[in-house]
Formats: sequence, C-alpha cells, structure tokens
Amino acid sequence: MFVVGLTGGIGSGKTAATDYLADRGITVVDADLASRVVVEPGQPALDAIVDRFGRPVLQDDGTLNRRALREIVFSDEAARRDLEAITHPAIGDELRRQIAGSQAPYTVLVSPLLLEGSQKDMTHRILVIDAPPEVQVARTIARDQVPEQQVAAIMRVQMAREQRRAQAHDVVENHGPLHLLHDQLEQLHQKYLKLAEHHAG
Ligand code: ATP
Repeated sequence: MFVVGLTGGIGSGKTAATDYLADRGITVVDADLASRVVVEPGQPALDAIVDRFGRPVLQDDGTLNRRALREIVFSDEAARRDLEAITHPAIGDELRRQIAGSQAPYTVLVSPLLLEGSQKDMTHRILVIDAPPEVQVARTIARDQVPEQQVAAIMRVQMAREQRRAQAHDVVENHGPLHLLHDQLEQLHQKYLKLAEHHAG
C-alpha cells in the first residue's frame, strides 16, 4: 500500500485537506483518532496504563481520565516516557492495521506528530500543509473560540515551520481561499495515483 504522510501545524488545514482527499475516494488514517481508540476500555494499552499509574487515572465509568493522566505526566519526565512506551507501540499497531485494511488506490496517514517520531517510517512520501503563523492563529481562534495566547503556546511547542517544510516531498500553501487548497490537492492527488501505480508495480 502506497502511503502519503500528511502533517502541518495547528490550524494549518490538515482536516480541510484530508476531507478533500477522502471525497476523492482515498482512505484517511488519522493518528489522533487512533491514539484515542487504543485507550478505550478493553484495550490492552488502557490496562497497562492503569497498572502503571493506578485507578485514579480512570473515571467512574471505566474510561480514561485524560486530565488526571495529563497532570501526572506533565511534571514527571519518567512518567511521560512510561506512558509513551505504552501508547506509541499500540498507536503504531493500530495505524498499520488500518493502513493494511485500506482498499483505496493509496492511503493518507494524517498526524500532527508525523515528523517527530517513527510514524513517518510508515509512509512513502511526506506532504506538509503550510500556512503563515498569523493565518494559523486566526483560523484556530475562529474554529475553537480560544484565546490567541493558547494557540501561540501550542505553536511554540510544535516543530518549527521551516523544519517541517524541509522534510516535505510536497508542500501545499494554504494561506488563500479553499478553492486554491483544492486545486493544489487535485494536482497532488493525480500525482499520487501515478506514484501508487508504480509502487504497486
Ligand atoms: P488542528 O491541527 O488544530 O486539528 P488542522 O490542521 O486540521 O488543525 P483545519 O481544522 O483543517 O486545520 O483548519 C483550521 C480551520 O481553518 C478550520 O475551521 C477550517 O475549516 C479552516 N480552513 C482551513 N483551510 C482554509 C482555507 N483555505 N480557507 C478558509 N478556511 C480554511
């Protein structure tokens, strides 16, 4: 299966881009969604989290208390590493499972952390959705009704824009209207269909 990894900073337009490609019949595998699936009740990763961090990280209904867990790992580096050692392999397995099940001509793996860890190793090509910081901030504020400082704080901990662009095979410039995003994606979609065909041999 030919896999395009798609990433970008907060509010850059990852969802807008994957919505377009999904409409064109492409399977979209979402790492954010997978990270929630693997800690659902009954999943081995949730049991491992409770073994390591105790019952306080569960809500009364048996689902993960994300806030309690966040507070534990926020100030404790070893705890954060332990949590990642549980969740990252589970997320990787879930992503591979979903990619293997795709019947589409190619698959897009969308992840805000594609380039930070090993998820990029699952991909054949990297597509970065890029927008200038002021556009990221304005669109995120409009979408989430959050204060500007909160968006700026998230941007500070995300990978630098130039570093992200430098790792891309393809970059979509998303500072303009949606139809320009779609025009660029349509061209890439045609290119990816050809690359996927070659890949399949
Ligand atoms: P996050 O990482 O925060 O999940 P994202 O990269 O998925 O963000 P989107 O949700 O796709 O970003 O885009 C952010 C907001 O900007 C959304 O409300 C989306 O509809 C809007 N948006 C994206 N691209 C454009 C565009 N070209 N023109 C106008 N609005 C846009």
